[in-house]
Amino acid sequence: MTMRLIIMGPQGSGKGTQAARLATRVGVPAISTGDLFRWHISQETALGVLVQSYTAHGELVPDEVTNAMVRERLNQPDVASGFILDGYPRNAAQVGELDQMLTADGVALDAVLELTVDRDALLQRIAMRAELEGREDDTPDAISRRLDIYTEQTAPLTHAYADRGLLVRIDGAGAIDEVTEHLAAALEGVAR
Ligand code: AMP
Repeated sequence: MTMRLIIMGPQGSGKGTQAARLATRVGVPAISTGDLFRWHISQETALGVLVQSYTAHGELVPDEVTNAMVRERLNQPDVASGFILDGYPRNAAQVGELDQMLTADGVALDAVLELTVDRDALLQRIAMRAELEGREDDTPDAISRRLDIYTEQTAPLTHAYADRGLLVRIDGAGAIDEVTEHLAAALEGVAR
């Protein structure tokens, strides 16, 4: 069975954790554009050097760069059975780009999962993660910039996916296991 999913949610909603857990259950790779960028930055690749100033400030990396990286990743053989995209698409142009990539491959999305968590809970979780992980973009300015970008550019994308009948909203406020179970249950309805 193939499964092509997007997981959406603001920073701190737990989408990275849940994407990894769902990927294991479903048997498809979780593809996190944030993780890909962080890997390039840590390895000081040309791409890493190019994107570092954007990610450090919580700004979006330019679309051409991001789209090319995703296109290349979606061409890897392990994606044949599907994927869970985490952190992409993040704006309307990326939605169009992803549509084109999938259409060219003759495949389609099965569902778009949105994790909802209120802003106060998000800020608490992000502050906790900042202590644990020491991410370069977990400074107060970058955090607030990332949440603003999510609200302005990314959250509205859910309307487009809802119009296509793909959107599934899940409350992300509960315990990690509980949220995973809700997501897995939602996928039961999607499996085909
Ligand atoms: P994340 O781990 O998903 O929060 O991503 C970390 C950072 O990587 C973001 O703040 C952006 O700078 C960059 N990034 C990740 N995904 C994208 C994307 N789809 N488009 C542009 N920039 C991105």
